[in-house]
Amino acid sequence: MVFTLVGENAEVHTEQLPRQAAGQSAAWFDRARAVTPGGVNSPVRAFSAVGGTPRFIASARGAWLTDVDGNQYVDLVCSWGPMLLGHAHPDVQAAVQEAVARGTSYGTPTRSEVELAEEIVARTPVEQVRLVSSGTEATMSAIRLARGFTGRDLVVKFAGCYHGHVDSLLAEAGSGLATHAVPGTPGVPAASTAATLVLPYNDPAAVEKAFAERGDEIACLITEASPGNMGVVPPAPGFNQVLARICARHGALFVSDEVMTGFRVSRRGQWGLDGAREGWAPDLMTFGKVMGGGFPAAALGGPPAGMAWLSPEGPVYQAGTLSGNPVATTAGLATLRLATDEVYAHVDGVAATISAAADEALSAAGVPHVVQAGGSMFSVFFTPEGTTDVPDYATAGTQDTTAFKAFFHAMLERGVYLPPSAFEAWFCSAAHDDRAVEHVLAALPAAAEAAGAAR
Ligand SMILES: *Cc1c(COP(=O)(O)O)cnc(C)c1O
Repeated sequence: MVFTLVGENAEVHTEQLPRQAAGQSAAWFDRARAVTPGGVNSPVRAFSAVGGTPRFIASARGAWLTDVDGNQYVDLVCSWGPMLLGHAHPDVQAAVQEAVARGTSYGTPTRSEVELAEEIVARTPVEQVRLVSSGTEATMSAIRLARGFTGRDLVVKFAGCYHGHVDSLLAEAGSGLATHAVPGTPGVPAASTAATLVLPYNDPAAVEKAFAERGDEIACLITEASPGNMGVVPPAPGFNQVLARICARHGALFVSDEVMTGFRVSRRGQWGLDGAREGWAPDLMTFGKVMGGGFPAAALGGPPAGMAWLSPEGPVYQAGTLSGNPVATTAGLATLRLATDEVYAHVDGVAATISAAADEALSAAGVPHVVQAGGSMFSVFFTPEGTTDVPDYATAGTQDTTAFKAFFHAMLERGVYLPPSAFEAWFCSAAHDDRAVEHVLAALPAAAEAAGAAR
């Protein structure tokens, strides 16, 4: 036996059982922990940051989740972004069922992957895409392509931006400018992150300085097009354009990661809200989440001259057994075809209503906070008194996570499922109707009081 067992994490999950009965979830969580590390297949699902029992969901429809105890929740996570149309949309379901009936994977080219690629190309500045199965694969492949294309090794990223669990991108920030990154997790060789520079977000001077010093070694700069993985921290006006210009000046590729924002914050993602208006385009883009319609599908894309470096056309190797899977691409295509301007207008409206109500409830309860939005993605920061703006990861880190924890559980007990972390975006869908929104608004005042009492 090479591994010794570490038991400390076990008690975190049982410290605070909510009032709502979660007996079946608790029983399943026990079974899960016996056979899966931490009982989950992606860490944030374990409720480690908020305590209590993670809810095992049995089914979902529209804006609502139903757990294994029969409790219902308005879902403000939406599978972390993908479910733009809401759960179990009948047209998406029908398309998927039809696809499944034709067989689920052939390992050959298929029609639906071409159609999905055409839909992505029609909505974004990319002219070609390579389909993969996860956002992590998309960013990993984009970085390999950028390094192959430029013949350079260094990658620049921003503190607080998440690009999946790619070795070289799991680097935390140092506190200074342009610090050499240390790995954010054991298991990543220092050599992987030594080729990564981590900079503070929304700080053009830090980017200028890093490129002035090492510009000719930098293969690419990768950024979330509008960050949602440190809470929602939108780019300052013009910031992405400045990044594109600095990269161009130094012969580095500008990689815009729209895995979260793509096809969610607008028809054309975050690029539709800034680049399309300002007249610039990234060199490479990555997509995921919404484009899979609740199935594993993601993509990287760019101009043909760059994409031609990928195998089999070019020398940069990239492959995947289930890439462009016919069921996943059918779900993604059906979702994108249903994601009309009316859908985006509705989701924008719901997000504005809920975020304004959260702001008002917390103010009324005297809880210091900042609400920030990037398109229809928004989040509440439980920042100290006097903070009016969260421009970067360091500021996001000043939050009172105890207040968030109380707020989260008060919402959960009242049937609202928020992201179980103070550092995540909240998501709405086209299926969030008046009844769902009213349910959220009704829960907010008591949750705000609970946050106030916990401070
Ligand atoms: C979710 C996410 C990823 C990773 O996607 P997975 O499908 O979870 O691997 C990458 N980048 C951003 C911006 C994301 O939000």
